Amino acid sequence: MQTTVLIVGSGLAGATLAAALGSVGIATVLIDRDPPGQRLDPKADGRTTAVSLGSRRVLEAAGVWQKVADRASPIWSIQISDHASPAAMDYDHRDVGEEPFGHIVDNQLLRRAQLDRLAELPAVTVLAPAALDTLERTPAAATARLADGTEIRAELVVGADGRGSTVRRSAGIEVMSWRYNQTAIACCMSHERPHNGVALEHFMPGGPFAVLPMIDREDGVHRSSIVWTERPDRAKAMVALDEAAFSRELQWRVGDHLGRVALSGGRWTYPLGVLHAKRYTDTRLALISEAAHAIHPIAGQGLNMGFRDIATLAELVVDRARLGLDVGGPDVLKDYERWRLFDNVSLVAITDGLNRLFSNRSLALRGLRGAGLSAVGRIAPLKKVFMRHAMGLMGELPRSVRGRPL
Ligand SMILES: Cc1cc2nc3c(=O)[nH]c(=O)nc-3n(C[C@H](O)[C@H](O)[C@H](O)COP(=O)(O)OP(=O)(O)OC[C@H]3O[C@@H](n4cnc5c(N)ncnc54)[C@H](O)[C@@H]3O)c2cc1C
Repeated sequence: MQTTVLIVGSGLAGATLAAALGSVGIATVLIDRDPPGQRLDPKADGRTTAVSLGSRRVLEAAGVWQKVADRASPIWSIQISDHASPAAMDYDHRDVGEEPFGHIVDNQLLRRAQLDRLAELPAVTVLAPAALDTLERTPAAATARLADGTEIRAELVVGADGRGSTVRRSAGIEVMSWRYNQTAIACCMSHERPHNGVALEHFMPGGPFAVLPMIDREDGVHRSSIVWTERPDRAKAMVALDEAAFSRELQWRVGDHLGRVALSGGRWTYPLGVLHAKRYTDTRLALISEAAHAIHPIAGQGLNMGFRDIATLAELVVDRARLGLDVGGPDVLKDYERWRLFDNVSLVAITDGLNRLFSNRSLALRGLRGAGLSAVGRIAPLKKVFMRHAMGLMGELPRSVRGRPL
């Protein structure tokens, strides 16, 4: 089998890249070791994603957003508070324009929308389950062999195969990584009063506790999604509680402003850590999203960084393909790495620093946190920079993030 781009890994990142490339007719093969049904199982992932405004535009260019837009809940304001300080920050979208900061989308709905979009694209071939066996790369081409013996020859191979990336390992690319002594609990809760599109982040000693606005259930019940970070032993104890006791813990952390709250559906846990690849490229190979970088979910930015990788790589590939040039040569790979490195390294550092600053009981750091929160709140230009970051609109932006076609 011959293709222009081979993408290994059909997670939220790999499937978006395939849809973006397929939407402009670039021949693309997308493989995943798991069958699609397994990834769509509601029990497989209990998370939602805060899709920033910039990322929404990338999904629009890929023809995916149109399939989830009516089930995505806009974020009109973001409120940040600290358990140990009266200082708080309130971001209102009207300070930077008409658009919401982003939207909260159920991960499984996003996956379903991606698969539906890929089925519409004749340029994309999806093979799953299909595990990568060997990958040979020379300056002329890349050749992948799958476990069932299928051979795929491509100009460019993209590793979108997550933190443990086989593609990254096969190229001998080293990573910098560490684990946090923290686990994220993800779940959904119902509540009596509407959330009015407000996202809340409350910093507790165990880590951040986020309440993210979801669309109402079909029967009109209001819902929010929760990302609750705790020490691993505490997280284990919390998810072992019965539903009523767990709901009481939620109520204590959320407060009264949403009325009575209750757990709705399952509970999932995710151990947390950081990973950053020392290089994003090698001969005929590029890494995107968690194969290249994974961060703490403190600011809901992990996949948003991945969407900017996708927008950048897709733009470079499409521009070369339109001129009839090789899309996997060293110039494309060099441009891709140069373009993405600064944004990704900055977010790895910022999210790590924020987590260390806020997730503790240190008296010395308490004052610093309070001063920092009130300073950012008072200095209008600084506040606007933070808001544009949350919208995914800072730095050198590829054209699909700016809302222009690929
Ligand atoms: C609690 C929590 C909340 C989060 N909230 C947000 C948020 O609000 N906003 C945000 O932007 N980010 C968020 N994130 C981060 C986000 O979930 C991840 O960045 C994203 O899911 C990574 O997607 P991916 O496609 O890169 O990797 P993965 O989801 O890991 O997908 C990798 C795919 O590759 C496949 N694969 C692996 N190896 C092979 C192989 N050898 N051959 C073939 N296929 C292979 C796997 O089967 C899988 O389908 C959150 C993370 C956590 C833990």
